[in-house]
Amino acid sequence: MKKLFIDVPALINSGAAVDQIKCEYLFHRKNNGAFSLLEVAQFASYCRQCTESFCVSACPVEALERQETGTIKRHNMRCVGCKSCVLACPFGTIFPEVINYVTCQCDLCLNQLEQDPDYVPLCVKTAPAQTFAMKELTEEDPQQHIYFSGKHLAIKSPNWRHKEGKS
Ligand code: SF4
Ligand code: SF4
Repeated sequence: MKKLFIDVPALINSGAAVDQIKCEYLFHRKNNGAFSLLEVAQFASYCRQCTESFCVSACPVEALERQETGTIKRHNMRCVGCKSCVLACPFGTIFPEVINYVTCQCDLCLNQLEQDPDYVPLCVKTAPAQTFAMKELTEEDPQQHIYFSGKHLAIKSPNWRHKEGKS
């Protein structure tokens, strides 16, 4: 199955507002799934995945969890949007415009893709050119700064964990 590919620097350089990227996730009115995708990208790429995670300690409602892989996960049904985590991160890697109190969801259009492998999700159709795409990608490509987050998402972004040319 193709992966949803997001080129984060291209999106930033496009100057587009994220809420202009439409989402077809059915179960929330006015859903903005691209926000949840960028949150995943942020925790996968920019976050230093500190062993002592100041963001986790700062959260007053235990909404942040450091997973076994080191990746931080936000339980958005617990998050109250106080943004204490944003202030607590010593590296400034939590971007308040991405950590939204209003919960967004994205199911990566997996149902549609199972029925039609060439299906093109609405976010890909509505995102600025060259920022979102569906791609057959079988391996990460550190030379091109392309890394995977789970089985269905590929993120192009400078990634602090990888030296250029090495995985
Ligand atoms: S404090 Fe910042 S860099 Fe460290 S785990 Fe939390 S978000 Fe990541
Ligand atoms: S914004 Fe959400 S995740 Fe961050 S500290 Fe506040 S409640 Fe926790």
